Amino acid sequence: MMKFEPENSDHFEVIVPPESREYKREKERARELRAGAWWKRKRATGICYYCRRQFPPAELSMDHVIPLSRGGKSVKENLVPCCKDCNNKKKNLLPIEWTEYLESLRGNHDP
Ligand SMILES: [Zn+2]
Repeated sequence: MMKFEPENSDHFEVIVPPESREYKREKERARELRAGAWWKRKRATGICYYCRRQFPPAELSMDHVIPLSRGGKSVKENLVPCCKDCNNKKKNLLPIEWTEYLESLRGNHDP
């Protein structure tokens, strides 16, 4: 079953395969939340969770902070509005690079 080791989070291992039942269930939940009032309100702020820039709400997509592939869940605490830039970066960067990117953003906002 699922193995999740927070201490080992530098090693980005895919632990929940997309074809698994768990993964599909969480995908389905995300879709339901995305259709609901909670998400509409959240997205209406227009602020990307990662870079904190302001966007037209329609440009923000729903992102799992902890990816489903790593055992993240489709719960409100794990779902954030995300701009296209950040979404692409998150997909293309290695997890460690993404962490560094986030830390650099935090450094700028939180001196
Ligand atoms: Zn962003």
